[in-house]
Amino acid sequence: MSEPGGLKRRFACTGCGECCTGRGSYVIEVSRAEQRRIQRFLGITWSWLRRRYVFRFDDETESVRMHPNGDCVFLDDDRRCRIYSVRPKQCRTYPFWPELATRKAWQEETRRCEGIGSGPVISLVRFQPGRK
Ligand code: SF4
Ligand code: SF4
Repeated sequence: MSEPGGLKRRFACTGCGECCTGRGSYVIEVSRAEQRRIQRFLGITWSWLRRRYVFRFDDETESVRMHPNGDCVFLDDDRRCRIYSVRPKQCRTYPFWPELATRKAWQEETRRCEGIGSGPVISLVRFQPGRK
């Protein structure tokens, strides 16, 4: 059932970096166009980017690599994204993903994201596609 007045959620990112680490089993989907932007941003070769930073998850999906502890390879020592301005869409749209659109899922995600439930009320026509 839709919510009266449309979807409204409180959210303000604190920059804690928790959504970029820890789960191990997730993928950080990255398209070829996004990979090109990252490659240009880092000033590295295509083959180096592919070998060092990307892996094939399944037939349709390529993902940013993660360290064995689950940290994204682009997370720096200060828990900041090294490619923030060219990060994949999946990262840019978190936590406004379809699977987090229900109140229950949104509430459960507060265990991971401390920005959920704080900050200004954000009204959304629709949640953006994404997963992590
Ligand atoms: S690319 Fe950047 S924003 Fe996305 S998971 Fe990695 S560190 Fe986080
Ligand atoms: S877990 Fe939430 S508050 Fe922390 S960096 Fe990610 S989006 Fe921002």
